[in-house]
Amino acid sequence: MSPRVAIYPGSFDPVHWGHIDIAKRAARLFERLIVAVYNRPNKKLLFSAAERVALARAALGEVTNIEVCPYGGLTTEFAKSRGAQVLVRGLRVISDFELEYQMALTNNQLEPGMETICLMTRQEYAFLTGSIIKEIFMLGGDVSSLVPPHVQQALACKRAEASCMDESIQLVSLRD
Ligand code: ADP
Repeated sequence: MSPRVAIYPGSFDPVHWGHIDIAKRAARLFERLIVAVYNRPNKKLLFSAAERVALARAALGEVTNIEVCPYGGLTTEFAKSRGAQVLVRGLRVISDFELEYQMALTNNQLEPGMETICLMTRQEYAFLTGSIIKEIFMLGGDVSSLVPPHVQQALACKRAEASCMDESIQLVSLRD
């Protein structure tokens, strides 16, 4: 029987056009696609899990066979709990391949029968990463072509929080 449910796991900090493109293309290949937002990735995050889920939901809500939800623990366990046998990942550059290959082998070892399908990014999104977007935005650059408007707005809120925090720190250091 062909697989009907697939999981697209990642940190999505924040969701951007590269992720959205992969999710929409994968949703055409399966009956249901679960965009699974990993709650505690091993990297510095700007957005909380709840915020990352909300931003991804707003970006993909129009696609009826896509569900966005948070998860923790092993990806294979989460996939199994949702009846999925396929993990979808995106490939941007050659260097992504090595990591994805390693993860695919590991996940298959943990859960025999769990397949990983990698979709190639579109050329225009090949350079896009969450870290690049955060860095450009926090330094005052324009990210309007990289993320949907609601994500741009969320980034603006974070930047305002950060500068508010900077001001408070400056005030404290002036006082001391
Ligand atoms: P991770 O922390 O697992 O790398 P990300 O949120 O960065 O998670 O990405 C989730 C998935 O989306 C990964 O498979 C990643 O390769 C893919 N991805 C990220 N950016 C792009 C992009 N610009 N084009 C295609 N796929 C992408």
